[in-house]
Amino acid sequence: MYESIKREIKARKPKMAICYDFDKTLSPDDMHTFTLIPSFGLDKNIFWNESNALAQDNLMDKNLAWMYLLLRYSNTKRLSIKKDYFNKIGADVPLYDGVSTWFGRMNKYAESKGIELEHYIISSGLKEIIEGSKIASQFKRIYASSYLYSADGVAEWPAQAVNYTNKTQFIFRIAKGYYEEYDERVNNSMNDADLTIPYENIVYIGDSATDIPCMRLVKSKGGYSIGVYDPVKNNRDNVYQLYNDGRISFYAPADYRARSNISKFMKQIIDEIAAREAMKTERKVLEIPANLYNTYKTTKTVIDSLPKNMKPSIKKKMSSELDEMKTMIEGNIE
Ligand SMILES: [Mg+2]
Repeated sequence: MYESIKREIKARKPKMAICYDFDKTLSPDDMHTFTLIPSFGLDKNIFWNESNALAQDNLMDKNLAWMYLLLRYSNTKRLSIKKDYFNKIGADVPLYDGVSTWFGRMNKYAESKGIELEHYIISSGLKEIIEGSKIASQFKRIYASSYLYSADGVAEWPAQAVNYTNKTQFIFRIAKGYYEEYDERVNNSMNDADLTIPYENIVYIGDSATDIPCMRLVKSKGGYSIGVYDPVKNNRDNVYQLYNDGRISFYAPADYRARSNISKFMKQIIDEIAAREAMKTERKVLEIPANLYNTYKTTKTVIDSLPKNMKPSIKKKMSSELDEMKTMIEGNIE
């Protein structure tokens, strides 16, 4: 029996997750500023000034403000905004070098180390645009702002507005395996051993201040955070500050090609997770006889302290069960 449990423990494949911000982390542009707003024939500066003023004057969440403004412009300009329209825009969103092949390379590397790797997006951008991008199929889930659509598929109302602090709930969802946005069990307490993905096996990649709560959460729970900067602009203020403030474990240019720094760091992280998981597995195997020994000792103490006048047949039955338990424990014990 012990052998089969041992085999089962050793056959379990540990999981890890990489969570990505989207704008300026995987894509060099901001999807609204460079793609969505101009597609409405609007000037990006005018749009953002108006959206930020709306948020400020009405104490609104900034994401809810742009989502509202976009709906209002679609009405005044008599442009219907449909899911398909957003998806189509997503197909043209540019990606940083190496992004399109990154997932396959990292999955293969993790696989070679016995790790099952999953990818997730956690972005304040529009989910439907990301879903239209070339890399959408690489993600197990895309958590982002999204609209509620009418039966005709026209955007009517915000369904999700993802901002910097509520981004963190998705880290808990991924760790606990409660993926649906409405599932309130995400707040249930869970033992580390029961997590779908342990926090220390989670990596978060982002570029800016809006990623700080996620970076901090992941890092404080033993995972890894990586700050990226645009390789062409090479402006490193953000990453230096994030690094000095202890928010990130690594920083690198957003260059995802095979020989890039971020590839090297990610492989080092995978190596460390694989080594730690191998040790966890060994300890789980060691735990079985040690736990059984504990049960044996406790049961023995109970039997030894049974009253003298107890029916001999009961005492005999318990003693034989104790002997059987002893045979299941590997090695010699007193
Ligand atoms: Mg970003």
